[in-house]
Amino acid sequence: MTTDMKSVRVRYAPSPTGDPHLGSVRTALFNWLFARRHGGTFILRIEDTDQGRRVDTSVLAIMEGLKWLGLDWAEGPADDGRGSKGPFGPYFQSHRLNLYHKYADQLIQTSHAYRCFCSPARLEAVRRAQQQAKVPPGYDRHCRDLPASEVEQQMAAGTPHVVRFRMPQEGATSIHDLVRGDVTWERKLLDDFVLLKSDKFPTYHLANIVDDHHMQISHVMRAEEWLPSTPRHVMLYEAFGWQHPQFAHMPLILGADRSKMSKRHGSTSVLAYRDEGYLPDAMTNFLALLGWSLDDKTEIIPREEMIRHFSIERITKAGAIFNPEKLQWINGMYIRALQPAELAEKLVPFLEKPADEGGLPATVKRPVNRAYVSKLVPLVQERLRILSEGAELTSFFFEEQLSYDPALLIQKGMDKAGTLNALKLATEQLDTQPVWGAHALEELMRALAEQLNLKAGQFFGAIRVAVTGRTATPPLFQTMEVLGKERSMARLRQSIDMLAAQA
Ligand code: GLU
Repeated sequence: MTTDMKSVRVRYAPSPTGDPHLGSVRTALFNWLFARRHGGTFILRIEDTDQGRRVDTSVLAIMEGLKWLGLDWAEGPADDGRGSKGPFGPYFQSHRLNLYHKYADQLIQTSHAYRCFCSPARLEAVRRAQQQAKVPPGYDRHCRDLPASEVEQQMAAGTPHVVRFRMPQEGATSIHDLVRGDVTWERKLLDDFVLLKSDKFPTYHLANIVDDHHMQISHVMRAEEWLPSTPRHVMLYEAFGWQHPQFAHMPLILGADRSKMSKRHGSTSVLAYRDEGYLPDAMTNFLALLGWSLDDKTEIIPREEMIRHFSIERITKAGAIFNPEKLQWINGMYIRALQPAELAEKLVPFLEKPADEGGLPATVKRPVNRAYVSKLVPLVQERLRILSEGAELTSFFFEEQLSYDPALLIQKGMDKAGTLNALKLATEQLDTQPVWGAHALEELMRALAEQLNLKAGQFFGAIRVAVTGRTATPPLFQTMEVLGKERSMARLRQSIDMLAAQA
């Protein structure tokens, strides 16, 4: 690459129209990684010029998503989401309208743009006629060469108007896209697009170019859907006499059916993944692999490695498939790598959620005991893929009263009387056990199984149901150790009562 990498300045320029979309955040991540890789600057710019589509809470949600993922910006909205920080601010396009007006005027002065007074009704009629004639839709350039006197007259009358770019009709425009290679567009196929709308707000095209120039953006890395806009942008740069930044268009994110990723394929808001219990490092790892790879095989790439190796050359042209199972798997890997105390810290808020939001049963008192959670965490860490699965996996550790079908206590090849006898003897022996450690408990129960002529599997199966109410749990004796003597004994006694009472 020929650019001076010392001056890498890249921007993430979301339009605040809703929650931060997964694909959009992938764009942010690639820009952030590229800036980090080259010691450059990552800028957040809010493209809020489409007043109709603006959602007020969106800027804060976008910032929240970036902060959650650790994608910090050196320039952009300040922490309160209102002011701006950085030398090229403000970083909200709605606060930069004068600048866009100035440049729209400049283009009119230099004949690169013109005022268009066509009414919405006329434009609609043109569109319908084009549809009927089966010709591509587009503005028919009605106002492109209006006599100056008519323009003056319309202006004096205060006729609402837009400003359009006078697209040259000869020749072609080419770029060298850092992902897609050389791309060329015939200019006669490009329309006289709008620069300034009748509400005096700029279109995306004008604001985007003016800002990228003024903010000294070196590389524009954005989703492929913006590629068709690029020749318009390049023509604008030429009209201003400015050099355009380098472009890199990132592949689309597709669902498993290869259609564009949408809610049908899984949550699209990155904050939904936070709320479901994905770890930010796992999420960034997963997002990085949506279109970029280290070496075609490595799946788990710590953040520092991503920064060290990120390059535009390894971004693919082909659409990236969003695979939710892969995300779960990656998250499980990151969960396993945590220290138990760290995992406990992250798990507690999920356990403490209301039962109908996936937390522990309502009968379990909040707050839960953190030290207790730290003890049980190593027993479920291997099986946990998402933090929101934690409550279901661990509820029996917390419940005061287990409820289960006592028939589950009776193991294959055993009957009620034999099970009762075995549980009673187990209870008696365990009750006298001075040291409540997994190893000692196991030795004691193995010896008893032998004495009773039972297979360890049978005997332990009955104890397992008695102390957990479940047939599948983490290792039994470690579980009993964490549960503690008092709780374990109470549960064993309860199981005997329940089984005895069963007809
Ligand atoms: N505001 C555009 C968006 O929401 C930015 C496109 C660009 O990066 O140029 O995606």
